[in-house]
Amino acid sequence: MVQINSNYLKLKAGYLFPEISRRVNAFSEANPQASLIRLGIGDVTEPLPQACCQAMKDAVDEMENSSGFHGYGPEQGYPWLREAIAKNDFQARGCQISADEIFVSDGSKCDSSNILDILGEDNQIAVTDPVYPVYVDSNVMSGRTGDADQAGQYEGLSYIPLNSENGFEAELPLEPVDLIYLCFPNNPTGAVASREHLAKWVNYANQNNALILFDAAYEAFIQDPLLPHSIFEIDGSRNCAIEFRSFSKKAGFTGTRCAYTVIPKSLQGSTSNGTEIDLWTLWNRRQSTKFNGVSYIVQRGAEAVYSLSGQKQTEKLVSFYMENASIIRKELSSAGYTVFGGEHAPYVWIEAPKGQSSWQFFDFLLQKANVVGTPGSGFGTAGEGYFRLSAFNSRENVEEAMQRIISF
Ligand SMILES: *Cc1c(COP(=O)(O)O)cnc(C)c1O
Repeated sequence: MVQINSNYLKLKAGYLFPEISRRVNAFSEANPQASLIRLGIGDVTEPLPQACCQAMKDAVDEMENSSGFHGYGPEQGYPWLREAIAKNDFQARGCQISADEIFVSDGSKCDSSNILDILGEDNQIAVTDPVYPVYVDSNVMSGRTGDADQAGQYEGLSYIPLNSENGFEAELPLEPVDLIYLCFPNNPTGAVASREHLAKWVNYANQNNALILFDAAYEAFIQDPLLPHSIFEIDGSRNCAIEFRSFSKKAGFTGTRCAYTVIPKSLQGSTSNGTEIDLWTLWNRRQSTKFNGVSYIVQRGAEAVYSLSGQKQTEKLVSFYMENASIIRKELSSAGYTVFGGEHAPYVWIEAPKGQSSWQFFDFLLQKANVVGTPGSGFGTAGEGYFRLSAFNSRENVEEAMQRIISF
């Protein structure tokens, strides 16, 4: 019989969202009249910016004629999109990133897990706790961890706690690590990283020959103009960091699919016998072999994010969600809840009141307020006692959900 990849049997996650669905379905069956408001999932709700839709419609029209038809494009993305990205997202902020260091893809979720393809098996890996589960699970699946313990932490991974005591700032690890996943603005805590915070990690990585995998999927939600949007705003980062970006949250592309990864040409890794190899060449080889590029139509849609009207429309989209986040913060704090995040990220991280566990508070909100959120413990041991509410919903639903929650 064919052998399976037994690493998959070590996986614990895949438990969170099915368990939420199970409890929500059981509640709905028992209370068919209840109208639930879902502030749980990390998916956007507002329509695509008009500029992106128009660009994609025009691209479809082009494809109708032999003169405008496009077959396979470059695996790395079309030069016009890579140039627009380099210019607007990096050079405009003073980062020395060139178009050929941008690799366009169909998602940051896949990029942040596929990156392991070009990295060795014996790296010591650090993740924050709580964490976006993709970083952990992709390491488990590829055999880079042992089994999970009772608390759900995997043998072989280093966990860096993010909690109210450390201000949700990732502290440097006590044991040496080679690979560090950082996500700021953070999913799930909604925390943002200051320049000093990122500089501390860049210095650590350069001193220890470590690599930072920086997930900036939420950079567009940063409100304070002084905060860094990219790890490449930090001196020295071109030698120690890879950045993941996505059009999913910023421009509503969760169902349209376009993202990109930045790999500086100066970034080096080492073979087991100490020879230095640049990671750009390996990723280029990996993408050319295993990936055939993002659809021409979708890349035209992504390019339109950088047009004048596209920029205005995406700013409006982001502001809309950030106003939701601000309503959630304001209503819950006035009602006596302790809330974090939600100022530079579309997530509000709430302390479950009266010492409740994450799941107890989940059940309370579901049954009393008919509001569905995400238990913090689902993102890691250090998330226990916390709860995530997402700002991705209509204004009406957010306001109604807050009125229901604060009435208890
Ligand atoms: C939503 C999200 C992404 C984006 O994933 P896509 O595959 O590009 O849709 C990446 N990282 C984090 C932490 C996210 O929450």
